[in-house]
Amino acid sequence: MLQQVNGHSSGSDAQGGGSLRKDLQKFLSGEAPLHQLDDLTKVNPVTLETVLRCLQARYAADTFYTNAGCTLVALNPFKPIPQLYSTALMREYHAAPQPQKLKPHIFTVGEQTYRNVKSLIEPVNQSIIVSGESGAGKTWTSRCLMKFYAVVAASPTSWESHKIAERIEQRILNSNPVMEAFGNACTLRNNNSSRFGKFIQLQLNRAQQMTGAAVQTYLLEKTRVACQASSERNFHIFYQICKGASTDERLQWHLPEGAAFSWLPNPERTLEEDCFEVTREAMLHLGIDNPTQNNIFQVLAGLLHLGNIRFADSEDEAQPCQLMGDAKCSIRTSASLLQLPEDPLLETLQIRTIRAGRQQQVFRKPCSRAECDTRRDCLAKLVYARLFDWLVSVINSSICADPDSWTTFIGLLDVYGFESFPNNSLEQLCINYANEKLQQHFVAHYLKAQQEEYTVEGLEWSFVNYQDNQTCLDLIEGSPISICSLINEDPVPPELNRLLQQSWDPLLKVLFPTDPEEQPSGQSRAPVLTVVSKFKASLEQLLQVLHSTTPHYIRCIKPNSQGQAHIFLQEQVLSQLEACGLVETIHISAAGFPIRISHQNFVERYELLRRLRARTSSGPHSPSPDERHSEGSPCTEAATLQPLLQDILHTLPALSQAAATLG
Ligand code: ADP
Ligand code: MG
Repeated sequence: MLQQVNGHSSGSDAQGGGSLRKDLQKFLSGEAPLHQLDDLTKVNPVTLETVLRCLQARYAADTFYTNAGCTLVALNPFKPIPQLYSTALMREYHAAPQPQKLKPHIFTVGEQTYRNVKSLIEPVNQSIIVSGESGAGKTWTSRCLMKFYAVVAASPTSWESHKIAERIEQRILNSNPVMEAFGNACTLRNNNSSRFGKFIQLQLNRAQQMTGAAVQTYLLEKTRVACQASSERNFHIFYQICKGASTDERLQWHLPEGAAFSWLPNPERTLEEDCFEVTREAMLHLGIDNPTQNNIFQVLAGLLHLGNIRFADSEDEAQPCQLMGDAKCSIRTSASLLQLPEDPLLETLQIRTIRAGRQQQVFRKPCSRAECDTRRDCLAKLVYARLFDWLVSVINSSICADPDSWTTFIGLLDVYGFESFPNNSLEQLCINYANEKLQQHFVAHYLKAQQEEYTVEGLEWSFVNYQDNQTCLDLIEGSPISICSLINEDPVPPELNRLLQQSWDPLLKVLFPTDPEEQPSGQSRAPVLTVVSKFKASLEQLLQVLHSTTPHYIRCIKPNSQGQAHIFLQEQVLSQLEACGLVETIHISAAGFPIRISHQNFVERYELLRRLRARTSSGPHSPSPDERHSEGSPCTEAATLQPLLQDILHTLPALSQAAATLG
């Protein structure tokens, strides 16, 4: 059953559509300030141009959030506005009887999502999908939402482990600086660009308190460890160590002041993200003690020295390439920091071993200079990617709640935005593939399914055309032949893995345990999973989780690519609006049915109202025995019911009108 409650999602005035209509009339007659339109479904006509003008007017008036039907549009202010994210404001949205009547804000989405978990008869998991280009504000938004839930869903108890007693929310928030230090980097588009995708499940108990969280990450851009585009930087953590290490640590990690590392470009740029102390403190709170931290930083310093190894071309193909200049010193330092035997390290970089024939005979072939470089880079990527995954697992074990201590979750999805560079690598393909997949989720869930449902229900509806990106996805992932099926990444040489298994460093021993498959001869190995196939599988899994939740969408828009406040570049915004199909979304939201409740749920939910209405009309409320549940006094029950009733009473006129329209 569908209920048409047009204007329900408007959020601009408490008295219904009255003042909104006046605003609209003023707008149409050209006298109203455009920035006052809180909901793009009220722009008339809805075209790219009118939507753009409205957003521009709002940006000029320092109004950064605008409703667009089922989506919230978030313009990046590119300037700090503390009062917009204060705890007081979070509480205001949380306490509001109808938060959608307040100014559009990410807290409205946060609160609505939070209420959805409990307001339905059966609790349903929720997700908030934050999308947008690189630098548009996705990570900022999801961080603010995490803070919002840390305030409104705070648990009453504190956790004690690793000798630190603290609230779980604080620990969950601490995961941000750690993951950003290791997974974010300064790029041309964003000084703090996330180089991995993240889905965090905030776990709630029956009382809607946050009892824990679980993080899932997607495809870290590990290439960055060994290769940075010009004017870009490596992951923040490397700069943090080099800038923040104490004199003793510098000695221990062989990082003398002013040392030059070829994998550390643009060290002179000072960023807010270069704060080593913040990362160390957060790691400590997550249970990563000082000795373990030192071990991690020592390994990272080992990678920096590895990056300084240079090979000369070999004149004789049968001879391995020799080290150039200072490289001998670099290999010695790197081997000592990674706790690897020096000669096997050098040999693994210089010589390829091939096993062939029935007897698995070993052949040794010297590598060309380019191959030596690739193997060196590959070694660093392998270590860094394993280290990152290990950190995520440590974070999870520190913040994840017992399975029986939570019943529902709110998922926050912050994946890297669409990217296109002059030279794109496999990572860009995967990043853009993920974005297409999420757009498809939106198209399938909102644009396609909704209109199909209207047809099935026999409702009058003129179909709104939209751009379906299915053909694009078929090209990337379809069968039998697609880009995914054609590309296979050249796999990590097994010698590198074997070398790292020889390390006597405690951390590397954990990251590279001895492979049980290596020992018995003649056993078949598990099929090698390529990067693309792994990524595809993890995306499928993510989509399945998203499909099982009620999704909420926040579209972040970048008003200019320079990251400057007060600059709104129409062309740039326009292309982002087009890419996400915002105008089509607004059309469907404006003409569609924003409330969709199954008949069963509707009856179960509103039956209560009928009973209470009957009671109110027959005198003051005194609960009948059947209304008193076994647990909770009538008083607490009334307090719990009050917001629900207000919600119901508010929507009732619109629902009755809709019912009348539907006959
Ligand atoms: P994305 O994750 O989409 O790549 P970020 O969330 O990292 O982008 O945002 C890029 C930068 O924009 C941030 O580092 C911050 O400086 C700025 N920014 C984003 N959102 C806001 C906001 N709501 N208020 C102030 N600055 C913001
Ligand atoms: Mg980001």
